[in-house]
Amino acid sequence: MSEKKIPYKIYLEESELPRAWYNLRADMINKPAPLLNPKTFEPATAEDLAPVFCDELVKQELDETTPYFEIPEEILNFYKMYRPAPLIRAYCLEEKLGTPAKIYYKFEGNNTSGSHKLNSAIAQAYYAKKQGLKGVTTETGAGQWGTALSMACSYFGLDCKVFMVKCSYEQKPFRREVMRTYGASVTPSPSFDTEVGKKINAEHPGTSGSLGCAISEAVETALNKDGYRYVLGSVLNQVMLHQTVIGLETKTALDKYGEKADIIIGCAGGGSNLGGLIAPFMGEKIRGEADYRIIAVEPSSCPSLTRGTYAYDYCDTGKVCPLSKMYTLGCDFIPAANHAGGLRYHGMSSILSQLYDDGLMEAVSVKQTEVFEAAEYFARIEGILPAPESSHAIKVAIDEALKCKETGEEKTIVFGLTGTGYFDMMSYEKFHNGVMTDYIPSDEEIQKYTKNLPEIK
Ligand SMILES: *Cc1c(COP(=O)(O)O)cnc(C)c1O
Repeated sequence: MSEKKIPYKIYLEESELPRAWYNLRADMINKPAPLLNPKTFEPATAEDLAPVFCDELVKQELDETTPYFEIPEEILNFYKMYRPAPLIRAYCLEEKLGTPAKIYYKFEGNNTSGSHKLNSAIAQAYYAKKQGLKGVTTETGAGQWGTALSMACSYFGLDCKVFMVKCSYEQKPFRREVMRTYGASVTPSPSFDTEVGKKINAEHPGTSGSLGCAISEAVETALNKDGYRYVLGSVLNQVMLHQTVIGLETKTALDKYGEKADIIIGCAGGGSNLGGLIAPFMGEKIRGEADYRIIAVEPSSCPSLTRGTYAYDYCDTGKVCPLSKMYTLGCDFIPAANHAGGLRYHGMSSILSQLYDDGLMEAVSVKQTEVFEAAEYFARIEGILPAPESSHAIKVAIDEALKCKETGEEKTIVFGLTGTGYFDMMSYEKFHNGVMTDYIPSDEEIQKYTKNLPEIK
């Protein structure tokens, strides 16, 4: 048998770009629970969601039967500027680890936003433009989503208002300037521009903000401004749908070389990159065509899957967004201030929550010092400077490769390298100076917010 030598980078042809996003819900046996209207607690209808989200995106959000959504030509053309993204065989890392495992990573950091977020930003901006809107509002934590959305909005000539979690606004002034370069306006959150921001500022003077609170501000602004809608960079079904380009490309690339993944690993904040990466593989698993071990990696300081509760909760602190059934730490949960590495959302995609609850995937949590150790180790061998978020996946990929070294198993490990870490140098600096600490919330702290989850009959 002649084996094709696998190159360091598997690039696909432009013609091999996915033409449609894959809607995993169509294949799920237990469908994710519906979003609930925050006022009535009834399943949210398209009419409920229309004031907040773009019409086409509402359709995608609620559709659990259509398996494929064709990618419009305009989005495909934008994708062509930075996709297909390479699938990289980590030969150097394998050698350094002395593992018989094969390690692959899908690199999504090849665009100015520095992450996979652009895959959904461009789709959401496109549908907003098509609907004739003037602009969109959003929140950003670490800044990648805000940057991606700014890029997408400037491409389609839309106004873009970003509420940036105050601590990262202050820590990452360059992120803010990148967004302004693309024409976005950036407001630190909580601000005094919205009712919910004023309220949060009054209740928690000097607070450094949270994603949940920035979301509330962005939603309020969209509701009060004619021709504006709110867009979100993670958690929602529509976002995961757009992110399936990651997994579809990965599968095409592996198939090209007759490779089959055994273990698929991704970091999980709101779950969009992981959901997108695993979707086609999970589809095969659900349909009984193949089996894979799928591992979500989250920070031990914000452990929604591993220590959260599976229940309906608000998606935002201000309780203006619909409720989602998900693994949650409670919508008032704010990760400890020393937590550096993104992935700080209190909940998780309802699709991934259901899959996890059904035992179709695993989850582990890792401490941030070990994440940065893995990040630095990886950077020194593979060259890419990884985002702290992505490095959660690196850490577990290395752990799995080392297990293979012990057992002699030649497993194929695929992980998502979601982005680059150039704007996270303050965190790297803390790590290098030996002042980075780990924080693991106690059971009491976890229960503090989960014991007050809304009661849904
Ligand atoms: C936003 C982000 C994540 C986490 O978001 P998900 O929706 O869980 O994918 C991971 N990595 C990078 C680089 C990000 O910007």
